[in-house]
Amino acid sequence: MTAVEARDVVLSFGETPALRGATVAVAPGEIVAIMGPSGSGKSTLLHCLAGILVPDTGEIHFDGRRIDTLNENQRSILRRDRFGFVFQSGQLVPELTAEENVALPLLLNGMKRAAALKEARPWFERLDLTGLERRRSGELSGGQAQRVALARGLVARPGALFADEPTGALDSLTGEQVMDLLVSSARDEGTTVVLVTHDARVAAYADRQVIVRDGKVNALVSA
Ligand code: ADP
Ligand code: ADP
Repeated sequence: MTAVEARDVVLSFGETPALRGATVAVAPGEIVAIMGPSGSGKSTLLHCLAGILVPDTGEIHFDGRRIDTLNENQRSILRRDRFGFVFQSGQLVPELTAEENVALPLLLNGMKRAAALKEARPWFERLDLTGLERRRSGELSGGQAQRVALARGLVARPGALFADEPTGALDSLTGEQVMDLLVSSARDEGTTVVLVTHDARVAAYADRQVIVRDGKVNALVSA
């Protein structure tokens, strides 16, 4: 049984090959860290697994269902209903407050504003962001914004969370706190977590590390 899977995925951007036959399978509730050199295809693989990019050839599966053959609209519904995302930059809506940003996935799922804000609030304590609920997210520091983005990724209790360098803007103590929270989400809620990181200390929190080189997943290391 796998939750998230890529089978022999090939994807090029024009003439540039990004993935050349990448295969990886992630079990339900498992945390997998994707590592490897810059330009090796990590982000592209993450975007394929998350139903954002569609491979040229190969297959993507989520919860036993093939998702790369879904149309754009079906994939966007799947992403909204089942996935959480934490991407490096440009992901918060700067005009909204921090708590509105965290509540956004719930609002998009049709929850009423008051209920969504109530769900959002406990995340501020969990992530040491108490007092910043009403601050416009454009006025947060990089590390604060990254933790708000993490809360937003987890607030709807997604089946799978996809994260690209989720600790990139954080000092090491806050990075540990973020990884502890990711680990407890996976353990308590059964969230499957796939993250891209350059940081070996971050990868050490994963159940398994996967190395991408030249567009292929060519090494498996147990954490
Ligand atoms: P990594 O995440 O390991 O740094 P990427 O998946 O971002 O690698 O990129 C893999 C290869 O694809 C690189 O050669 C990169 O320059 C290229 N690439 C990635 N995204 C695009 C894009 N949107 N347009 C053109 N080339 C891209
Ligand atoms: P990372 O290494 O974290 O993936 P990058 O700087 O490689 O970050 O990529 C950041 C963004 O730029 C991604 O959305 C990627 O798709 C895009 N990108 C990467 N390489 C290229 C490229 N050669 N041409 C156009 N877009 C690219």
